Amino acid sequence: MPEVSNRTKNLGTENAFVVLAEVNKKKALGENIISFCIGQPDFDTPETIKNAAKKAIDSGKSGYTSSCGILELRKAIAESEGKLRGIEINPESVVVDSGAKSFITHTIMTTTDFGKGHEVMYPNPGYPIYHAQATVNGAVPVPYNILESKNFNFDLNEFEKRVSDKTKLIIINSPQNPTGGVLTKESLKGIADIAIDKDLWVYSDEIYSNILFEGKFESIASIKGMQERTIIATGVSKTFAMTGWRIGYAINEKLAEHFTTWVTNINACACHSNQYGAIAALTEKNAKNDADKMTESFKKRRDIIVEKLNEIPGFNCLKPLGTFYAYPNVTKACEITGIKDSEELRKKLLNEAKVAVLSDIHFGERIKTEGEHLRFSFATSEENIIKGTQAIKEFMEKNLK
Ligand code: PMP
Repeated sequence: MPEVSNRTKNLGTENAFVVLAEVNKKKALGENIISFCIGQPDFDTPETIKNAAKKAIDSGKSGYTSSCGILELRKAIAESEGKLRGIEINPESVVVDSGAKSFITHTIMTTTDFGKGHEVMYPNPGYPIYHAQATVNGAVPVPYNILESKNFNFDLNEFEKRVSDKTKLIIINSPQNPTGGVLTKESLKGIADIAIDKDLWVYSDEIYSNILFEGKFESIASIKGMQERTIIATGVSKTFAMTGWRIGYAINEKLAEHFTTWVTNINACACHSNQYGAIAALTEKNAKNDADKMTESFKKRRDIIVEKLNEIPGFNCLKPLGTFYAYPNVTKACEITGIKDSEELRKKLLNEAKVAVLSDIHFGERIKTEGEHLRFSFATSEENIIKGTQAIKEFMEKNLK
């Protein structure tokens, strides 16, 4: 048999999908697992959106579209995303693709050259695809630390030290996966000053911009001088419970034409009828009301899970400000049970307490001074949250040294 490429052998992945496969295997064997693994709303897509897509299918919207997406959708995106950020967006600056995720790749490929030592800075812990795609596309991944002591922001002095003459792109993500942290205005301003001073691109992953529990969403693109160098990446996946519809988009005036060429090369276009669903999501009042209700429900679950996690011996959980992730510190939980680390704890929770979670090593190299963490996605029912945290509590009490 011919070999696969080294590039492929070394390709990183999103472990949420790997653990999910493990959970599904156990479920198929009849095990009753409560899962906090996967980052997607457990709600159905709002009716208004489904009806718009059905209508599109029935009226023959089944061919390719322009690679950048249909103009009506790009107009709706420019209008609604511009309004949220208080900026003017030209529909020509918007490119639609199959999910927001592919823009991580498109951006790295558009702003760095393979093997030239171009550096891409990204948050650690952070969404694992940033590291995987920087590496596989021949750039140099440079992590910057997200710190629990800073309420899941970063230390600007430390951040600045990691910027070099080779830095091309800074990736930020707020509200953040996996910590639920939100970058403060000061953090955004700090990055903006550096990006302007050193003439850098900023990829702002804003996929959770509407799942925010306190205050108003702040985008780095709204800071003076930043819109032109910021790639705003977002989409309808999380806000409208549309993860499987695969509609995401990126906004940047200069890079739009290059992103369009990448879409032509890789996907041709996003799903035609689903683009009509996305128009309904962004323009119909009913869809917005449904999305607001989902966020309200995530907030309620956030309060429950944080309270319950903090009742577990050795667990200490900050309140996530956005997303549907909680990221408790479990250093003490490992100590008092003699469990080696978060990953061993994760495995024991899956096999013994029948609760599936992810561990910090699924989101980058562990930062020793930060201790051990687990990630819980609370996009699941209140009943599951109560049962799952209770099972962990019982596991801990049974295993105390
Ligand atoms: N960015 C982050 C930070 C995410 O957590 C996710 C989904 N897990 C994505 C991007 C991908 O979004 P989409 O489903 O629209 O591709």
